[in-house]
Parts: sequence; structure tokens; C-alpha cells
Amino acid sequence: MHHDVIVLGAGLAGLAAARDLAAGGADVLVVEARERVGGRVEQTTLPDGRLVQLGGEVVGRAHTAYLALAAELGLTLVPSYVAEPGLLARATPEGVSAGDPPHWFGTGDDACHRRVSEAFADLARTVDPGDPWSHPHAQALDRISVADWLRSAGASPGVVRLWEIGQLALADGSYERTSLLAALRKHAAVPPRAAVPGEGTEHVEHYDYEEWEGLRVAEGSATVALRMADELGARVRTGAPVEAVAVDPGGCAVRLAGGETVTSGAVVSALPAGPLRSVEITGVSDRRLASLHRQRHAVAAKFVAAYDKPFWRASGRSGLSECEGVLGSTWPQSEGVLSCLVPPERYGVLLGMPEEAGERELLAEIARLYGDDAHRPVGTWTRMWGTDPWTLGYVTQWTPGDVTAVGPLHGTHEPPFYVCGSDQWVAGYMEGAVRTGRAAAKEVLRRG
Ligand SMILES: Cc1cc2nc3c(=O)[nH]c(=O)nc-3n(C[C@H](O)[C@H](O)[C@H](O)COP(=O)(O)OP(=O)(O)OC[C@H]3O[C@@H](n4cnc5c(N)ncnc54)[C@H](O)[C@@H]3O)c2cc1C
Repeated sequence: MHHDVIVLGAGLAGLAAARDLAAGGADVLVVEARERVGGRVEQTTLPDGRLVQLGGEVVGRAHTAYLALAAELGLTLVPSYVAEPGLLARATPEGVSAGDPPHWFGTGDDACHRRVSEAFADLARTVDPGDPWSHPHAQALDRISVADWLRSAGASPGVVRLWEIGQLALADGSYERTSLLAALRKHAAVPPRAAVPGEGTEHVEHYDYEEWEGLRVAEGSATVALRMADELGARVRTGAPVEAVAVDPGGCAVRLAGGETVTSGAVVSALPAGPLRSVEITGVSDRRLASLHRQRHAVAAKFVAAYDKPFWRASGRSGLSECEGVLGSTWPQSEGVLSCLVPPERYGVLLGMPEEAGERELLAEIARLYGDDAHRPVGTWTRMWGTDPWTLGYVTQWTPGDVTAVGPLHGTHEPPFYVCGSDQWVAGYMEGAVRTGRAAAKEVLRRG
């Protein structure tokens, strides 16, 4: 069968691209390795009807492409865990505390934190998120890690630890191994709101939770993918892993596992960085392949524990925590359902033990934060995204040197080969998937 466009991968990016291509009149086929659509958004339902998100979950007010798509699909955005009453908890080997300041902070740490946060925001204002490579000091900013920059800016050990525990909570890889340029680019893409004294934003934080994570789709974030797949119908083919792509302006050929070949005028790759590396691609420049293959992911796991009720509220906690255990964070995804992330630095701990033992250990960490009710969930799920063959990661990770090594080809196209996916945006979020998916479709249609 010959098609106008073949889209590789039925995650949010591939589906958003295919939906716009179909709306633009193109004959499009989506080929997806798994037997389901959605990729890194996936959900299941508890017997009582509550939805449980096992992958991507929350978005922010600044995520305009995602919010526009959700509106087109007739979905409802509601406040996420960020609006939960109660205190954030922090767990470290020496103790657990709730609220600010963190229990390891000493005299001067709070002022120091504010000072380096302002300095980071000032530096981020000099970075163009669409073109960080044009920064006059791009190489130097990319070479240094965020943690090294913090120390060079005079951050105390307590402040470096606060930034690091926040990064463990996001599970995007330690700040000791994160490019400063990448972190500045992310900050520049979604700058924090201005500080409003008395309204909980007394000073500028380097990661604005409201802007990045303040909303969620009430019908379930994986429903965004399911609705698009419903619209596309038979144009989406599941159980069809791509093994090779031959790109040629005269016609492209996509070989599937099993040997079948489908052809098209153009190919849109919406594959994550890891699985893309295993696809044999010819007819595309070496520079582009080197750039795509240089991208990498933070390897993380998600653990979800569902309870009858949000028992953490009894102790005044919001359910949001930042931790230095095997868990990097917890947050309530909906009434009584607690999401948790296991960051790359701790992923190996789970790989090294049977799943039930791992779950017991994670529940014990939740109990340390919120009390013994944690041991009595009505359901648990451990989703090892970092070793899932069709994801091999979690979100894009930029270690020192990566931004300049990937280079300005990042997120660009080489017609008739187009790329999209959350890896092609600044930081691997659902916004990046939708934004780049729709942009790729627009570009294909523009070129006819
Ligand atoms: C645990 C977890 C929590 C997250 N939390 C959030 C969050 O709260 N907010 C947020 O904004 N983002 C979050 N993210 C990130 C977000 O989910 C992803 O960035 C986004 O969903 C990626 O969409 P995508 O379409 O680019 O890639 P994917 O969803 O990975 O889609 C790629 C598709 O390609 C398929 N595929 C792979 N290889 C092949 C092949 N060879 N042939 C054919 N098909 C193939 C895959 O099966 C998959 O369906 C989270 C991710 C994870 C894993």
C-alpha cells in the first residue's frame, strides 16, 4: 500500500501529527509497535471507576499546544495536585520534615537560595529556548553541570542539596550530570511567574510548578491519545514495529518486523530517542542521524499506589514530597491515588529485586512520609519505563555537552523525513510531543 505520509509511533506526537495531516487531506498511516496507542501516556481503571495514570499526567498553564488540543478534543482541564491543601514533605536519610525551610537548612541558606535562584533566572533570560546554540557562551554553559554552576555561584551545600532533591523529584537525572545550558533553556521556555508577596510566590523559584504542572485532564491524560486514535480509526496500525526506513524524495519505504514494506511520499518519525537508534535509516544525512542518535533519556520508573482515601491529609500533608530514597517523589494524581517516581540514580535498586519486594520497599518509604496506612493500598502498579523496549527511558535528559553535540538540527526536518516527539522540544514533556507533532504536520502540508 502507498500512502502520502507514514507516521512512526502512535504516542501523543505521532497521533497529533497524523490527526492534523488527515484533517489537511493527506492519506496517512500510523505504524505503532505496541498493541496499544499512547506510548508514554497509559491508564488503567480501578474497580470503583477511578482512573490511574501510569505515565505522563500533568501539564501547566504555559503548555499552550497541549491545552489547545485538549480543548479541540472536548476534554476538561482541572487543577492538578499543585492545588492540594497541605504541606510538601521532604524525606532524607536523617529525617522527614514538612513545609519550609527544609530540615537541613542552616543560617543563611534561605537567603542564599533566593540569591542563586535570581541569578539562575537572570542567566536564563539570556538564552533563546528556540536557539540556545546562538548564545555567545553556549559551549561553556553546556559544559558545566547545574550543580557545578551553583557551587561557582556561591551556593551553600544545603542549597545545592535543595536543588538536587527537587531534581530527584522530577526524576530527570542528577543536577551533577545536567547541562547548565539545557536547564537554562528549559527555564527560558517556561519562565516562572513574577513573585507576588503574600500569595505563595514570595520569590522566584527555578521551576514554577503551576506553570509546568498545575493542570490535568479530568477524563485522564491517556484519553487525549485515545480520542485522537478514535478519530484516526483504521489509519492507525498497532502491533507493527518499524525496523528500517529508506528515505528518498522519489518515495520512502518503511519495513516492518516480519518483512512487510509500506511506502509513502514522506515519513514522520515520532519515536523516542532510544528505540529510534535501533531503526535502520538510510537516505538521511549523517549529521542528522548523529544528532538524533546523540539524544538520550533519563531512565525512570513510575510507581502508583491507590488507597480508599487520601490518608496523608490527616497529618496535614499534601501528598507532594521530595525524597532521597528509592523514591524521588510522591504526589496525589487524584482522590486517594498516589503517584511516585523512581529517578535514574535509583532505578537499578528496583531492577535488582523481585517486583513484590520492590513494592514493599516503596510502600515502606511512603509510610515513612505519611504513616502506616501506606501499607494498605487497594492497588499498586510498578511501570519500569526505563527498560520498556518501546520507550527505553522516561523524558529527555541533557548531560553536560549534549545540547551542543545534538546541535541546531534538533527538532528540524530533512524532507521528506520529518521528526517530532517530546525529545524534539526542550525537555521531553507532553507539551513537546503535541507541539512538535502538530508543527511537523504543518510543515509536511506546507510542502505539499
Ligand atoms: C512515568 C512518566 C511520567 C511522565 N509524566 C509527565 C507529566 O506529568 N507531564 C508531562 O508533560 N510529561 C510527562 N511525561 C513525559 C510524557 O509522557 C512524554 O514526553 C510524552 O508522552 C511523549 O510522547 P511522544 O509521542 O513523543 O513519545 P511516546 O509516547 O514515547 O510515543 C512513541 C511511540 O512510538 C512507539 N515506538 C517505539 N519504537 C517503535 C518502533 N520501532 N516502531 C513503531 N513504533 C515504535 C512507542 O510504542 C510509542 O507508542 C512522563 C513520562 C513518563 C514515562
